[in-house]
Amino acid sequence: MRLIIKLIILSQIIFLLLSNSVIAQNNYKIKTIVIDAGHGGKDPGALGFKSKEKDLALAIALKVGKYIKEKYPNIKVIYTRTTDVFIELHKRSQIANDNNADLFISIHINASHVKSVRGTATYVMGLNKVQDNLDVAKRENAVILIEDDYKKQYEGYDPNSPESDIIMSLYQNAFLHQSISLAGKVQKQFTQRANRHGRGVRQAGLVVLWNCSMPGILVESGFISNREEEKFMMSDYGQSLIASAIYRAFSEYKDEVEGNNNKTVTETKTYVTPKNESIVFKVQIGYSVRKIEPTTKNFKGLKNVKREHDGTKYRYTVGKTSDYQKILELQSTIRKIVPDAYVIAFKNDKKISVKQAVNELNKK
Ligand SMILES: [Zn+2]
Repeated sequence: MRLIIKLIILSQIIFLLLSNSVIAQNNYKIKTIVIDAGHGGKDPGALGFKSKEKDLALAIALKVGKYIKEKYPNIKVIYTRTTDVFIELHKRSQIANDNNADLFISIHINASHVKSVRGTATYVMGLNKVQDNLDVAKRENAVILIEDDYKKQYEGYDPNSPESDIIMSLYQNAFLHQSISLAGKVQKQFTQRANRHGRGVRQAGLVVLWNCSMPGILVESGFISNREEEKFMMSDYGQSLIASAIYRAFSEYKDEVEGNNNKTVTETKTYVTPKNESIVFKVQIGYSVRKIEPTTKNFKGLKNVKREHDGTKYRYTVGKTSDYQKILELQSTIRKIVPDAYVIAFKNDKKISVKQAVNELNKK
């Protein structure tokens, strides 16, 4: 690493640390937020079966901004793009810096060559510790190779060099704590309220977050390579649910950094509630006229067995979720102990066929 680069990094860090502590001292209010829809124009991002990352990311980003504006009219929402145009990565963070933004949220869609991989993950700047995160960083950073003059713009950054990664990870350290806090809230909303499979808060060397002088996150909203998730993200309902989760996380974060601990968090408006909450799946492990205590001992060591009477017999089940994929996973685990266990479905506590339940979930 050249000395000049070291000095630049050092001065950047000191600047970031200083600006960060100012925020903590004053009566801090979030005034400006930048919402960045990933990719665009000649850069389609990841490709799904029927859709492109750039289009899904834009649709979700616009909704996030709309929800924030509706609830907080005093907050300035700035988009890096509102149409299908190409924006270089360094310009995205520059927009945030030029506008003294308090927060930078970049919205993306993930992809994998393994079609079954699914779920949401939220990234903050940091060192790629696992291969998975390195892959995401490489894919999200690769766009700079089609930008003009990229070597000049990114100070010789090479998406494939480990040293470049280390340099980048230093930049965001000053805001890491806040970034992780927001990322954690996004993931919590995704899993607990929006019913998405969570892959957690992760760190990667992401160029788009590199030069942000404010807390920043990159949300991977789901896998475009997974047919089910692609379908969900292509639907207005799915986009609204994802955007709603990000909006609520922002709202919680805002209360946290502004010190509004008077429980306003709980009243944050839910724009879209999962409308299929009424559909649940369980794994049935027994059905009998005999009333058996649902203890671990009576059920081959299985924990949390539930017993219910349906008017004729007692039904013994484990698990309860509206995620069909999850219940199938549970079913295969349970079958190692109870080979004839199978998935059953309910709508508003009334038993319906699994096929009907799946159909209803897929309607939108
Ligand atoms: Zn992307």
